[in-house]
Amino acid sequence: MRESAADASFPSTPRGPVLVCGGAGYIGSHTVRRLVERGVPCVVFDNLSTGHREAVPSEVPFVEADLGDRKAIAAALREHGIQDVIHFAAKCYVGESVTDPSKYYRENVHYTWNLLEEMREAQADRIVFSSTCATYGNPVTIPMDESHPQQPINPYGHTKLHMEHMMADYATAYGLRYCALRYFNAAGAAESGDLGEDHEPETHLIPLVLQVALGQRDQILMFGDDYDTPDGTCVRDYIHVEDLADAHMRALCQLQAGAPRLHVNLGTGTGYSVREVIEVAREVTGHPIPAVVADRRPGDPPQLVSGGTHAKDVLGWQPRKAGLRAILEDAWRFHRNHPKGYSA
Ligand code: UDP
Repeated sequence: MRESAADASFPSTPRGPVLVCGGAGYIGSHTVRRLVERGVPCVVFDNLSTGHREAVPSEVPFVEADLGDRKAIAAALREHGIQDVIHFAAKCYVGESVTDPSKYYRENVHYTWNLLEEMREAQADRIVFSSTCATYGNPVTIPMDESHPQQPINPYGHTKLHMEHMMADYATAYGLRYCALRYFNAAGAAESGDLGEDHEPETHLIPLVLQVALGQRDQILMFGDDYDTPDGTCVRDYIHVEDLADAHMRALCQLQAGAPRLHVNLGTGTGYSVREVIEVAREVTGHPIPAVVADRRPGDPPQLVSGGTHAKDVLGWQPRKAGLRAILEDAWRFHRNHPKGYSA
């Protein structure tokens, strides 16, 4: 079934107030900044388990609480008169999800259920949330559009697919309106150099590569060079975090204009291998970045590349900062400015 936008003129500034769960995290903080720049009132709800208080403007109301705490969710919705939620709060490490799936079912599935229940109670009926290309699993077709079968191959992907199913069932039964944004690989940083990716522990390729360039690590491990890909290393579609922020604004606008449910890939349509990422990082940083082949990482599909034009058709969105070089240049600026992350 083809989804269509409620409003073909693609407004890109939603009405507030918006509750941003996980708004102190990597993608959440870039989205909050965009909301603030456009004058959209918002409230951040974050337990700071992985997010950073410094990443949220001081004038934005901040609720330091956990989505395990239903009373705190209810209070935030009621006190701020919320009808719209953007939900980023989740665990997102493929490797960790394989070794500790319990954390993923609790914090991704159970906590999202808490949020949906409190939204139902408060009659807040619109939600944009972070889904992922990991819900597709191994590619049957490349690139992958939204009709690609969803057969995740790791617990992270399973939990995100459960979240999508929950939203769909709540939409049918209770009239929830939702947009599942299936991100490919979020990367880059704000062009201003003051917002970026800071995870502890860091497991993502680009920040790790840049930590090598900063002299904080000796080398980067390439997880597998015997995949069925052009150079044997995994291929991913890296999408700039500022483009992701823009897509969230547009998605919420579409829900506010009446769209009932949307499932949208957010990628560029171009894949880069692990080797290519390292090579461009060498050019951008001027550092040799030693790389060593290591075993495959469990749960990694060989290739994830977004396909189709659905995001353009239903959100009027397309990436404006496509290209690995632009992504790495922005990420490098942030890492040089914050070699020890926000805490320093
Ligand atoms: N990767 C790697 N070495 C690292 C970290 C990641 O080779 O130290 C690879 C990983 O196996 C995957 C790609 O880089 O193929 C992107 O991984 P990342 O963790 O950044 O994102 P994911 O695709 O898991 O969401």
